[in-house]
Amino acid sequence: MKANQVRQVADDVFYVRGTNVNWYLLRDGAELTLVDAGYPGDAASVEASVRLIGHRPEDVRAILVTHAHVDHLGAVGRFHSRYGTPVYCDPIEVGHARRDYLEQVPVRTVVASAWRPGVLPWAVRAARSGGTSDVRVPQAQPFPTNSALDLPGHPVPVPTHGHTSGHTAFQLPSVGAVLTGDALVTGHPTSRRSGPQRLPAMFDHDRQRSWTALDQLAELAGDLVLPGHGQPWPGSISDAVGVARTAEEPRQHTG
Ligand SMILES: [Zn+2]
Repeated sequence: MKANQVRQVADDVFYVRGTNVNWYLLRDGAELTLVDAGYPGDAASVEASVRLIGHRPEDVRAILVTHAHVDHLGAVGRFHSRYGTPVYCDPIEVGHARRDYLEQVPVRTVVASAWRPGVLPWAVRAARSGGTSDVRVPQAQPFPTNSALDLPGHPVPVPTHGHTSGHTAFQLPSVGAVLTGDALVTGHPTSRRSGPQRLPAMFDHDRQRSWTALDQLAELAGDLVLPGHGQPWPGSISDAVGVARTAEEPRQHTG
């Protein structure tokens, strides 16, 4: 973990860049909320990022996960076993986090797509970071409420189902930011574009619903987009959705 991988992007909001994936730290005095947790290979870096902003891992009151893909759960087990940190997600995502079922792109699909630009190097790096390991979170719990959570940053869960069945974004009304998870990203090694976009289709469990999920995001107030992959985007969330949709329009209309 290098210092330049951690950046304060709003009051008490820290963006951390891991292995092709982001996580965020929300601060309230001495306490933190961790949103998403990197790849298994990022687990030590997640802890290092907490220390880098001057905190101890014990200060993390809870981990929120946008969805239960392996690149967002990496440090959850470490924090649970070492510090007893609870982990929360959408009620629909709990079964996925517990691995009662799996909604992640199968390795065979990645292999079949290896000819596409960026896919092979991304897959190699993902595998090296623990991307094919069996990560399950038996202690995952549903959010205690579906309004503002009583946690540092007071994040408000925004159901944005589609990328996975229980994918959730988080609105941070006090700073005018939206953590969009993988419902809306701003870049990915397997995409040739940068800027607001959906992930390539193979990563979405339900491609149609992930399109509809953009409606939920577009309605939110916020002028800072904090995605699960890619750089933070300084613009309104509704504009970001507009950019993502426009980029796909030719394909949408010729289908
Ligand atoms: Zn992801």
